[in-house]
Amino acid sequence: MRDALRRPLHDLRISLLDQCNFRCPYCMPESEYHADYQFLGRKDRLTHAEILKLARIAVSLGVSKIRLTGGEPLLDRNIESLVAGIAEIDGVEDLALTTNAMLLAPRAQALKQAGLDRVTISLDSIDPVVFAVMSGGRGKLEQALAGIDAAADAGLVPVKINVVVQRGVNDAGVLDLLEHFRGSGHIVRLIEFMDVGNRNGWRMEQVVPSRELLERIGQRWPVEPKQQNYPGEVARRYVYSDGKGEIGFISSVTEPFCGSCSRARLSADGMLYTCLFATHGTDLREPLRNGADDEELKDILARIWLQRADRYSELRRPELAEAHAQSKVEMYRIGG
Ligand code: SAM
Ligand code: SF4
Ligand code: SF4
Repeated sequence: MRDALRRPLHDLRISLLDQCNFRCPYCMPESEYHADYQFLGRKDRLTHAEILKLARIAVSLGVSKIRLTGGEPLLDRNIESLVAGIAEIDGVEDLALTTNAMLLAPRAQALKQAGLDRVTISLDSIDPVVFAVMSGGRGKLEQALAGIDAAADAGLVPVKINVVVQRGVNDAGVLDLLEHFRGSGHIVRLIEFMDVGNRNGWRMEQVVPSRELLERIGQRWPVEPKQQNYPGEVARRYVYSDGKGEIGFISSVTEPFCGSCSRARLSADGMLYTCLFATHGTDLREPLRNGADDEELKDILARIWLQRADRYSELRRPELAEAHAQSKVEMYRIGG
């Protein structure tokens, strides 16, 4: 099944809930997501049974990679049983989780046993003060590092470490962070700060182009490009020439990769989005709760994908950004 731009559907990202124990300023700034903010209620969110049903249908349409995300997915106390259910679906080849790792250490083993293949951990700095700032004053570096160690010990490998790089905030510490993880087997991925959502005050001046980072890194350690693992991989891969590991660059702003984008995103309240920068989604919760059977749901999903023509990052320009302003879906709702 291919969309209007001939892209297949391979990946499904499922956001389990919109709440988070962090307030990263680039995602959920505290000023907007304060104590009175109304997050989705339990009844608004898809149940695990509903998620499993949609996951099965997505797999029957070609999805082979599933990622659980949020908000913070580990705030879901029963995530292990959901993982077990998804892992059992015939056709799921890769089941991953994106987390800020604060709650990971005590649960890594159980997640692995339930069938999780690997984790991606968001960690923006190896400096405790900058880390705290980038988590909105809520994160503790030591606890996140313990989560990373526990994930590796549990075999949730390769551990990927996502770093959103913002000029003037954490870019000066990128080399220290790389130094810390060199030789660990973990793959650090440097992500350009994106204009997702409407509330993070994004400005182009805050984006550090991957090209610039690569140059800075190359002055410290020789690196060389490595082949993609599979067509459509979003990170451009480099390895240290001395064999101390791999770095990825996700350059959504300066070198967009819409041509190979094969991802659909399901929000916690059951909206399906076909682009990170979408202004509209399709409600799947309503048909689910109105008793639509698998065939009907499959038709809805297939129709959405066949019509898809999103390529926001390739078209990114001021007029488009303006037309999109205020109406883009927020990142914490669809999970990156
Ligand atoms: N809470 C989990 C976490 O942070 O890992 C999962 C959800 S979070 C929305 C998923 C990813 O989106 C994180 O790696 C985060 O750094 C990234 N992200 C959020 N806002 C972003 C932005 N404006 N630009 C680039 N990446 C962003
Ligand atoms: Fe929470 Fe993840 Fe967003 Fe940070 S990036 S506020 S950890 S959802
Ligand atoms: Fe995919 Fe949309 Fe990002 Fe392009 S802008 S890579 S279509 S999510």
